Amino acid sequence: MENGHSYPIDRFDALLRDLVTWGLVRRKDTENGPSWQLVDAAERRLEELLRPGPPLVAEVVIYLDHRCVDCRRRVPTHLHGDAYLCDACWALRSEAAVELPPPEAHPSRRRRSRFPREQPTG
Ligand SMILES: [Zn+2]
Repeated sequence: MENGHSYPIDRFDALLRDLVTWGLVRRKDTENGPSWQLVDAAERRLEELLRPGPPLVAEVVIYLDHRCVDCRRRVPTHLHGDAYLCDACWALRSEAAVELPPPEAHPSRRRRSRFPREQPTG
């Protein structure tokens, strides 16, 4: 944590397992040994998420009739993904995301499944 840039790789065990569990990476055997790659859909989405430029239209619109899901205040919010967030909470989430990627977007009761029989996307 001190230098802020390098972490022991085992810190990301849960994240890496999630990539496999959700079928977001694929394993290829090469002459140099196994190689892992993001699946096409994950690569495309990563490009979209990290693309510099104007934010998505939905994130530009200001909503006055939704409470912020994090602080519950009735303040102007923006829609980020499927969450209405005020600017302060969005900034907090963005900082937290840089420090440690949150394992969100999947139900916790499926986390123990070692060998998923179905893929998350059809
Ligand atoms: Zn808030």
